[in-house]
Amino acid sequence: MSKTNWMELDREHIAPTYARFPVVASIGKGAILTDENGKEYIDFGSGIGVTSFGYCDPLWVEAVQSQAAQLQHTSNLYYTKPCIELAALLCQKTGMSKVFFSNSGAEANECAIKVARQYAEKNHGKEYSTILTLKESFHGRTLTTLAATGQVHYHEQFQPLTPGFVFGDSEDIEKVRQMAEAEKAAGILLECVQGEGGVNVMSRDFVRGVADICKEKDILLMIDEVQTGNGRTGKLYSYMHYDIEPDVVSTAKGLGGGMPIGATLMSDKCADVFSPGDHGSTFGGNPVVCAGALSILSRMDDDFLAQVGKKGQMIRDHLTGKPGVKEITGLGMMVGIVTERAAGDIVKDCLEAGVLCLTAKDKLRLLPPLNIPEEDLMRGLDIVAEACAKQE
Ligand SMILES: *Cc1c(COP(=O)(O)O)cnc(C)c1O
Repeated sequence: MSKTNWMELDREHIAPTYARFPVVASIGKGAILTDENGKEYIDFGSGIGVTSFGYCDPLWVEAVQSQAAQLQHTSNLYYTKPCIELAALLCQKTGMSKVFFSNSGAEANECAIKVARQYAEKNHGKEYSTILTLKESFHGRTLTTLAATGQVHYHEQFQPLTPGFVFGDSEDIEKVRQMAEAEKAAGILLECVQGEGGVNVMSRDFVRGVADICKEKDILLMIDEVQTGNGRTGKLYSYMHYDIEPDVVSTAKGLGGGMPIGATLMSDKCADVFSPGDHGSTFGGNPVVCAGALSILSRMDDDFLAQVGKKGQMIRDHLTGKPGVKEITGLGMMVGIVTERAAGDIVKDCLEAGVLCLTAKDKLRLLPPLNIPEEDLMRGLDIVAEACAKQE
């Protein structure tokens, strides 16, 4: 009997935007992914920070399955319970006031940008429309969130992008202040730990300085928690490491535990800038997706977050000083590793040896499931250490 060649069929029918690894993923359980040939991999990527509780976590599966069997979609013309409960829980856990639900990180940021422009227009005038973001940031792939992304190599092919974005230098607070003034900024959007840009942790002084500028100028401080959010850094949201109060928080990835969701949280200050018709999403707040997210978010209590911090420390302790490991960056279970060998080669060797890893710029990046059993974590780290130490 001839076996379907899935990789070839993919190349034939899927638009070639992804350089995939030669793995046809079939079944997942916890931190272990099994491919079509039965080969097992320890997952240190979580589908890029999405499967927070690993593959097919039983409580998440139960939540999604029972909601799918009860009511799968209604559109936003009607009220549904899971999205209301999820919004209430998000507000309760963050102190934010209102939530807009969408389906991805890019959409969560699009909404944040609309909120900032609307707030600035109402309070300062239409000319206050510029959004300041940082160099090396990543905010998404839509034409507007690409424009917001401070990495010019993403911009070149798709001109013209949405106008109205400027890029400050991280850690240069005076320049950020000058730019915000000169450009008549409506808001500042930043990641406390830049993910795609190389797992770069912003300093406490810088982030607090940006928060001060926003407060002084009465413009919106928007924190992109798409990758850093939902427990990844050892706090529920990474801004909570910095003692700041953002006006807008955008999140996605890990919130749904594997279902597509975006959420834009608004503080009291800007919670009511939108009126009916100003923004919308057909799928946003979908009951099945929100039931899954509720299952994830409701289990992220202080004990759970402390465990994330502890496992993040275990990763650092295990790899620090190992041959081929030059430096470790990141927060909690969002880990960047500066390696002697090229990070891409290490990822390939790890894959062969049964561990899935990521890169971010020239670093190796690890985003294991937050509830990964210690045994799987240590077994995977031994393989990563070996790949870092390999002599070419
Ligand atoms: C992944 C990511 C996005 C984009 O999310 P999508 O769901 O792919 O649209 C935006 N911001 C940050 C910080 C991200 O890591």
